[in-house]
Amino acid sequence: MDRNYMESELKKITSDLAKLVHEGNYLRGNAVIMKRVCGNPRCRCAVEGKKHISLYVCKKQDSKTSMTYVPVRLEDDVQKKIANYHKIKNLLERVSDLNYGQLKLNKEQKDV
Ligand SMILES: [Zn+2]
Repeated sequence: MDRNYMESELKKITSDLAKLVHEGNYLRGNAVIMKRVCGNPRCRCAVEGKKHISLYVCKKQDSKTSMTYVPVRLEDDVQKKIANYHKIKNLLERVSDLNYGQLKLNKEQKDV
């Protein structure tokens, strides 16, 4: 990896990252689809066995996992927020990798 490539990559990644972070539109967790019964004995889920399909956000923290129900009207928004969080995480990782690359580059140059 050469230095110019690294710098232009870093610029590109950090600009995408800054934009996503600035929007503040992210949610840490994973989307989980679950089938459930609603509790109404006359509902089709109880009568016909056609369970409701619901979206949950599954979040792990300090070895605990929490599941948060997502109302239908918020499903698209929440899916997008979760995707944004994963994008941010990815971009952070790529910046870190580039900086590791930079360290190696500097080390090689010093050794020559
Ligand atoms: Zn039901």
